[in-house]
Amino acid sequence: MIIVMKAGAAQSEAIKIMEELKEKGLQPVPLYGVERTVIAVIGDERDLNVGHLESFPSVEKVMRVLQPFKLVSRETQKEPTVINVNGIKIGSKQLAAIAGPCSVESEEQMENVAAALSKMGIKILRGGAFKPRTGPYAFQGLGSEGLDIMRRVADKYGMATVTEVVDIRDLDEIARKSDMIQVGARNMQNFELLKELGAIQKPVLLKRGLSATVEEFLLAAEYILSGGNPNVILCERGIRTFEKDTRNTLALATIPLVKEMTHLPIIVDPSHATGKRSLIEPMTKAAIACGADGFIIEVHPNPEQALSDASQQLLPEDFEQMMKNLMPIVKAVNRNF
Ligand code: PEP
Ligand code: MN
Repeated sequence: MIIVMKAGAAQSEAIKIMEELKEKGLQPVPLYGVERTVIAVIGDERDLNVGHLESFPSVEKVMRVLQPFKLVSRETQKEPTVINVNGIKIGSKQLAAIAGPCSVESEEQMENVAAALSKMGIKILRGGAFKPRTGPYAFQGLGSEGLDIMRRVADKYGMATVTEVVDIRDLDEIARKSDMIQVGARNMQNFELLKELGAIQKPVLLKRGLSATVEEFLLAAEYILSGGNPNVILCERGIRTFEKDTRNTLALATIPLVKEMTHLPIIVDPSHATGKRSLIEPMTKAAIACGADGFIIEVHPNPEQALSDASQQLLPEDFEQMMKNLMPIVKAVNRNF
């Protein structure tokens, strides 16, 4: 951390701050210039309160040099974290292909989609039982019943499940009935929920918030790791921008950037990122090309009749074709399924 004192601030002011830093176990190194003093702080600055230091009247600004996160950082762990879900090693050379409907709507719908997906070799089934909907009159999901339907169907086809938790009160039940727990974009900064997820060992699929910076995204993951759960898979699902012709804007650069910053795996959600069926294949190809560890895609046996996200869900046969079309890119980047 670098602390820049105001021009002309008394040396005693800098000394006062340095004493405080020493008490916290850090080593302040003052650089006395002609006009102003700069204090370089050696040691782990992550627990320091920047706001407190900035509140000294003699301080002009405080700059961090270390990232504010620790456990998710590449500096802490050089080798990538690999999370095994139903034999799919997410974060390895093997890409994770996760597919299923936006919402669990009925046993028949789940049966249809799981039968088709498992035939294609898909091992992880998605489906929302608790849905975070923008308006209160929209379909809110089948809740517990949806979890049970998904579990029965997934077991029948030997698939693992991922489903979203929207309320901390449902967490125990979701953890018992599903294999991976999704934290949706709207809950990325639900810190109490993140703490609870840190206390269990189930893999967590953490989606980027609608307007979260990469730093905020990684700090959300840090909450889960610091609670004791290392099984976090990040998901870039697009951010909100001024663009209206796509549902969100897929921030593809996040994928290689996050790979530089953290050891955690990151997958892409081209369905929610674009909101448009026709854009899913090109964006999936692009994400694989730039290093994504997999994808989560909405597939519905009858998209037009879907109770949520009808315009972005693929038919199983279109998804199957897409999987074939991905292969040249998958091979080019030396990955496999
Ligand atoms: C979802 O995956 O069903 C979902 C609601 O996604 P997001 O949180 O990314 O909007
Ligand atoms: Mn959806």
